[in-house]
Amino acid sequence: MVESFTAEERAALSPYVTNLDGPVFALTNLPEVVKGALFARYSRSPKSLRRLLLDEFMGTGALERPVGPAFDTTRAEQLYERVFFEYGDDSVAQLGGVHLACEGASNILTKVLEWGRLMAYLEQSTRYIPYDDQPGGRYRYHVPQELAGPLRERYVATLDRVFETYRTWLPRLRDSFAARFPRAQGDSEQVYRMSIRAKALDTLRGLLPAATTSNVGIFATGQAYEQLLLRMRAHPLAEVRDYADLMLVELRKVIPAFLRRVDLAERGGAWSSYLAETREAVREMAERVAGPTAPAPRDEVTLVDFDPDGEVKVVAAALYAASSLPDDQLLAIARALTHEERLDILAAYAGKRGNRRHRPGRAFERTAYRFDVLTDYGAFRDLQRHRLLTLEWQRLTPRHGYVMPVAVEDAGGREDWERVMEDSAWLHDAIADAGLGEAASYAVAMAYRVRFYMDMNAREAMHVIELRTAPQGHPAYRRVCQAMHRLIAERAGHRAIAAAMTFADHSEVALERLESERAAERRRRS
Ligand SMILES: Cc1cc2nc3c(=O)[nH]c(=O)nc-3n(C[C@H](O)[C@H](O)[C@H](O)COP(=O)(O)OP(=O)(O)OC[C@H]3O[C@@H](n4cnc5c(N)ncnc54)[C@H](O)[C@@H]3O)c2cc1C
Repeated sequence: MVESFTAEERAALSPYVTNLDGPVFALTNLPEVVKGALFARYSRSPKSLRRLLLDEFMGTGALERPVGPAFDTTRAEQLYERVFFEYGDDSVAQLGGVHLACEGASNILTKVLEWGRLMAYLEQSTRYIPYDDQPGGRYRYHVPQELAGPLRERYVATLDRVFETYRTWLPRLRDSFAARFPRAQGDSEQVYRMSIRAKALDTLRGLLPAATTSNVGIFATGQAYEQLLLRMRAHPLAEVRDYADLMLVELRKVIPAFLRRVDLAERGGAWSSYLAETREAVREMAERVAGPTAPAPRDEVTLVDFDPDGEVKVVAAALYAASSLPDDQLLAIARALTHEERLDILAAYAGKRGNRRHRPGRAFERTAYRFDVLTDYGAFRDLQRHRLLTLEWQRLTPRHGYVMPVAVEDAGGREDWERVMEDSAWLHDAIADAGLGEAASYAVAMAYRVRFYMDMNAREAMHVIELRTAPQGHPAYRRVCQAMHRLIAERAGHRAIAAAMTFADHSEVALERLESERAAERRRRS
């Protein structure tokens, strides 16, 4: 259906839609709340969206109005008030998004911010940004409000010393890597320098405490922000709760209607209390039933759960959309096939993959793997960014020991590294002994290990393993994901699924960033 508009209407609409005639168009120059409210009206109006914009949001008087700030959002606010707040139709809160900058957040807080699946994040990197400067006269770390008096003084003195050590070792480690990996003929000074610098920063990040601050950009819907704020307001750490208050103020400037419930005692308040109470109840129970048990030794990565029948099920699932048979009948057929026939089907389903983005379809979601991982906090931080899986982690403490990079030892840094680790553990224990176990994690260096699990289907495993074993990745998470790939093939026996992960990379890499820097330079020159 082609809808016609008068010349006057076309002129009024043109700043706000990318196409005045076709069925597909994007919304431009509109406040977030208007975009969301417009989409929300789709469900209950026979009118087209452009007509709704003219009739209900602009009004005849608004037709002459200029673009942007002059837009009247009252009508949209009222609509949200009714549909979202009064009727409780949460889906309309998924229709407006906000780009929100979150700066100066500790590495404990960033993990809380990056918990939601339905949000997009971009975070400052410890690989490209040296944490050796002192903006405003202070190193970049968070001082928790929970600490006072001598404990606070000890915290600041210890963390300052840690950052001094990081600052001292950055040029030393750069020199050490430069001596070990001389510049190849044909590499420009810039390509070489960037690769060496990234390697030094990657290696030294283990010294940084979890209190180190970072900047995160978030793009998400009103509903995702509401959920995040509810979780944050229930959090045991003051930093997280205070940050939620700051976010709420800013978000209310752009999407107030989506966030009305958050701090109403009987709505969001009760919701946050529910989250806090259940967390505390389970913590007490876990302490009672599991607290006295010592952890058994484990490898860095353990495959704790998988379906021995997983490959057969994926074969049946691969046939599903191309067949008219019921699911269980297809499973019986898949079981009756020979091993070679099943491999042929899986090979056809995975197809010829030109690059890692050519990913097979949802049949690979038919089987899953649960990995228990015990690796350094730096690697955990990176792997936690994957959203299409289930990942939960335990509190960061020094109890699982730390990693000692060979490169630091080779450069003569063992003693300094060990001193930072010991200081970090002492500080942690002093804070924990003061009854502030949760805040004690801020003191723990990122080289310390943390335990977490990743439970993911084979399709997400393919994405995670292929992305995170790429040669330009950090060696710590490369090692974890290489182990996952081997375990899928050898422990689960899903050799065909593992083989479909063509871009899992098990190579040894000397300078992780070198190829990417070379490619970037080629692109700059072309
Ligand atoms: C070498 C390297 C360097 C990196 N450097 C940085 C850095 O400097 N800063 C930084 O912030 N991150 C960095 N990352 C992390 C990276 O940008 C991703 O955030 C991370 O890999 C997890 O996200 P994902 O989208 O790949 O995968 P998942 O979250 O596992 O999602 C899988 C896929 O689902 C889809 N998907 C998931 N969620 C959404 C969504 N909300 N919207 C649309 N599609 C979605 C996408 O197709 C995605 O690829 C780096 C990663 C690598 C490997």
